[in-house]
Amino acid sequence: MEIKQNVLLANFTTFRIGGPADYFVEVLSQDELIEAITWAKENSQKYIVLGGGSNILVSDEGFRGLVILNNISGYEVLEGRTKSVDSEKSEARFTQVNGNVNLKDLVYDESSLPRVSVKIQSGSDLGVVINELLGKGITGLHWFVGIPGTIGGAVFNNIHCGDFLFSQFIESVEVLDENLNKVIIPADECDFGYDQSRFQKSKEIILSVNFKLYKGDVNKAREFMQKWMVYRVGRYPLPSAGCVFKNIDKETQQKLGIPTPSMGYVIDKMLGLKGKKIGGAKISEKHSAFIVNDGGAKAQDVMNLINLVKSEARKRYNFEPELEIFIVSE
Ligand SMILES: Cc1cc2nc3c(=O)[nH]c(=O)nc-3n(C[C@H](O)[C@H](O)[C@H](O)COP(=O)(O)OP(=O)(O)OC[C@H]3O[C@@H](n4cnc5c(N)ncnc54)[C@H](O)[C@@H]3O)c2cc1C
Repeated sequence: MEIKQNVLLANFTTFRIGGPADYFVEVLSQDELIEAITWAKENSQKYIVLGGGSNILVSDEGFRGLVILNNISGYEVLEGRTKSVDSEKSEARFTQVNGNVNLKDLVYDESSLPRVSVKIQSGSDLGVVINELLGKGITGLHWFVGIPGTIGGAVFNNIHCGDFLFSQFIESVEVLDENLNKVIIPADECDFGYDQSRFQKSKEIILSVNFKLYKGDVNKAREFMQKWMVYRVGRYPLPSAGCVFKNIDKETQQKLGIPTPSMGYVIDKMLGLKGKKIGGAKISEKHSAFIVNDGGAKAQDVMNLINLVKSEARKRYNFEPELEIFIVSE
C-alpha cells in the first residue's frame, strides 16, 4: 500500500474535474482499507472513499486529507442461501419515457424465478459484475446496465433505472463502522429510498453487499441490455456525473402541474436553461438534468450553473431542486 501525495482527483472522476488530494491511496483488500483508515486516524487526516467517481463533483481546491480509491473487487455465489425479501418500501419517482424507447415496454417480471444469493465486494465495477454474473446464469442486476461506478457507490446512493431501485435486490450490507468494526446491516435497516441510504449520514464504509438475485433467462437479459444501451448511449452524455439534480417529488409535480417528475423536463421546458453554458460547463442538450464538462470546466463553473438552476426554480416556481451528486470539497 503506497500513500501518494498531491494527486489530482480530476483523473478519478467521470466529470474530469477537481483539484488535488493531499494524500491518495488505492486499496485492493479489506485489510488495506483498514490500514489506510488507521493511517488517516493516526495522522489526524480526514478521509473519504471513492469508487468510480461517477457521482461526485470535486472542488477546484481538491481535498485536504486522504482519498481512498476502493478497488476491492470480487464476488461469491452463495448457493442454497436463498431468502426471499420482498418488502420494498421505496418509491421510484419516474419512468423513463423518451424518444423511441419506453423502458416500461422492455422490462419483464422475474419474481417467480428461483433466487440465488451473491456476495459482492464493494469496489467491484458494476458493469463487470453484471456481465460476469450473466455468465453464471444469474440475472437481476442487468436492469442497471450502463450505470458507471462501483457496487459501493451504487449502494451509497441507491441507484435507479426506471422503477427499479438497487435496494430491491439487496439482502444485507457489510460495513466498517467508525471504530473499524465490521457490522452486517440487514436491508430493512439501511433506510433505502430514492437516491437515499443511511450510509450518506452514517459515515460507515461499505465493504461488501449480499444480493438476492435470480437464476434467470440470460438471453432475455442480454436482449434487454442491448436495447436499453442503444437508448442510453448519446442520451447520458460524458464527461459528466450523471443527473446533477434528483427528480421532483409527487407533491411538487402536482404543484407545478407538469406531466412528469423529470428534473430534465423542468430545466428544459420550464426554466429554459437547456444548453446554458457558464465557463466550460454546460447544461446538456441531450439530457437537461446533466451538466457536462464541455472542455476545461472548473468545479466553480458547474457550481455556478447549479446555483442558477436553483435560483431560477426558487424565484419562478417557488421550489428547491435537490442535488443528486455529492460535493467533495476541502
Ligand atoms: C453517464 C452517467 C450515467 C449515469 N446514469 C445513472 C443512472 O441511470 N441511474 C443512477 O442512479 N445513477 C446514474 N449515474 C450516477 C452514478 O453512476 C451512480 O451514482 C454510481 O453508482 C456511483 O458509483 P461510484 O462508484 O462512481 O461512486 P463515487 O462517485 O465514487 O462516490 C459517490 C459517493 O459514494 C461514496 N462511496 C463510494 N463508495 C463507497 C463505499 N464503499 N463506502 C461508503 N461510501 C462510498 C463516496 O464517498 C461518494 O460520496 C450516472 C453517472 C454517469 C456519469
